[in-house]
Amino acid sequence: MSAQAASVAREARAERLGALVAERELDELIVGDLVNPGDAAPGAMANLRWLTGFTGTSGLALVAPSELLFFTDFRYVERARREVVPGFEHVQAERQLVPALAKRLRGRVGYDDAHTSVKVFRRLEELAPDGVELVPAAGLVERLRRSKDEGELAAIAAAAELTDGVYDWIRERGLAGRSEREVARAIEARYRELGAEPSFPPIVAAGENGAIGHHDPSEREIGRRELVVVDTGSVVDGYCSDCTRTLASGPVGEPELEIYELVARAQAAGLEAVRAGAEGVKADAAAREVIAAAGHGERFGHGLGHGVGLEVHEAPRLAPTSEDVLEVGDVVTVEPGVYLPGRFGVRIEDLVVVTEAGCRILSGWTKELVTCE
Ligand code: ZN
Ligand code: ZN
Repeated sequence: MSAQAASVAREARAERLGALVAERELDELIVGDLVNPGDAAPGAMANLRWLTGFTGTSGLALVAPSELLFFTDFRYVERARREVVPGFEHVQAERQLVPALAKRLRGRVGYDDAHTSVKVFRRLEELAPDGVELVPAAGLVERLRRSKDEGELAAIAAAAELTDGVYDWIRERGLAGRSEREVARAIEARYRELGAEPSFPPIVAAGENGAIGHHDPSEREIGRRELVVVDTGSVVDGYCSDCTRTLASGPVGEPELEIYELVARAQAAGLEAVRAGAEGVKADAAAREVIAAAGHGERFGHGLGHGVGLEVHEAPRLAPTSEDVLEVGDVVTVEPGVYLPGRFGVRIEDLVVVTEAGCRILSGWTKELVTCE
């Protein structure tokens, strides 16, 4: 995709959001982080980045069906001019963003109540002109962020490919005799060597630690005949990948092989159930039934998968409590697991793009049990 085509795709985003704002009977929508508006965490900037292309940490947008405003402070004025797509009027806040924003509010104003602190909300109420009504409107941008365009898919595929390369590299280096933390740090360093960043701190969980959902890599040394859960991903052009493989540090026993095979079957059933129009709850059930039928239903304590994009966890969700229906262009993980407390765990996670007929798998690394001695 050319840079020009990418910018056209971005400009269409503001238009689509404007239409959604009108549909919700709002006059305006505030886009951006209202917890730390001048110094937001990267994840909290995802909506604004998606809408405008801005990569800094201090910015807010105000979207109305016929007006687009972008607010930043003096530190980011130049970057905003360079990055923000055409169509936005730029407003430089004198000091803080919130007073500058408040001045421009009119009528019914949607705000992201999932990313607003009570303190900032009160300040907005206090500074807004008379007649402004603040209306909770979380999730509007996230809704549009779900279906990825060609440029976004290319970035996610590139991030997934980098992660495949990191698994090759793990296989070459081996696991036995290193600590979990050493392996995790080496993975992070490897991404940086390749010119990328990890999308989250890698999980490396050996033996009984593999049975702990989100285990922090420890000083525990990886033995010679263990299963090791490795969950990692990278970021390319702001877009994340996410992949889990369970590796063996040497020949493992029959119970380990049996559970590995079970999770692989459940994962295949999950993949089979993913297609446009499928309910998140049904895709989850397809994998869950395989595990339950083998008597391990209680040992799969998390949902089957989650959306991935500018954030490593975003909409939609594949889970027993999900209300989402999959659509073409959704990028989701399919990651069943079985966790036997005190013994070991197995999780296998692919990243896929939802298509009309099924899904396209972006994680290229083998799902055979690989031994990394
Ligand atoms: Zn993962
Ligand atoms: Zn995941």
